[in-house]
Amino acid sequence: MEHKLSNPKETIQVIQKYQFAFQKKFGQNFLIDPHVLDKIIAAAQISDSDCVLEIGPGIGTLTQYLAEKARQVVAVEIDSNLIPILGETLKDYPNVTVINEDILKVDIEGLAGTYNQGRPIKVVANLPYYITTPIIMSLFEQQVPVDNITVMVQKEVADRMQAGPGSKDYGALSLAVQYYASPYIVANVPPNCFIPRPNVGSAVIRLTRHKEPPVKVKDAKLMFRLIRASFNQRRKTLQNSLNNSPELSCTKEQIGEAIRSLGLGATIRGEALTLEQFAALADCLAEHTG
Ligand code: SAM
Repeated sequence: MEHKLSNPKETIQVIQKYQFAFQKKFGQNFLIDPHVLDKIIAAAQISDSDCVLEIGPGIGTLTQYLAEKARQVVAVEIDSNLIPILGETLKDYPNVTVINEDILKVDIEGLAGTYNQGRPIKVVANLPYYITTPIIMSLFEQQVPVDNITVMVQKEVADRMQAGPGSKDYGALSLAVQYYASPYIVANVPPNCFIPRPNVGSAVIRLTRHKEPPVKVKDAKLMFRLIRASFNQRRKTLQNSLNNSPELSCTKEQIGEAIRSLGLGATIRGEALTLEQFAALADCLAEHTG
């Protein structure tokens, strides 16, 4: 297609034609750099048999690229002012379905059933940054069949997803993402690649879903409760953080014994533990929690 939107001129023309007003509350920063779009597409490894879910198509810039590679694109956009614009910018792409809905309210598993016979889909997006974590976590936790997720996020969030123990960026998000997927930062993206410019740096990250989780744990929900409790009070010892958590019902003695049984010192902090160690801790405490 001749008139791709991936440059400032085409984007501004579309915005002016429809007198579109950017809404900050929806995290609207549209991509205007063809190199970045090429990098996203290459990282997503889309084939012509794939069904891609795009979250927040905006005026359809990334959608056009996706539609040229994939068999089917399903694009979910919350802002109804963008729907007539998408009708025009995507009119040459019969393999795109636009749904005007809040992605956090969409039954994504149902979409994979309807558009991909329940086979794993790929998720590609320049995400609205205000809901990055709930979007990623609901894709994983709802057991949506997903191959990989390639998304633009705030640089700081990409760093947190990829961090390991000992790093200041390491936290509950790192562990949750790494339990479900292996993260890879594809590119750092400066603010001038968007219109309007965001106040923060951005990065494209690909999360490739594990076929099997890298650790075995009897009760993954308990493990995540332990992880949340440990990082809620990051500066406290692991023992104190777990003792203070209203989410856990085990006694101080049981927690102390579980920590000792892993060979860890009494003053260790949660931020020093690996995913394997959190899994082992959860297994030790599983019999004591309701
Ligand atoms: N994909 C476009 C691009 O790259 O130029 C736009 C990306 S912009 C960062 C984020 C998009 O997500 C906006 O179009 C915004 O309206 C949309 N959005 C925000 N919250 C949403 C939600 N809860 N559900 C679906 N779309 C949402």
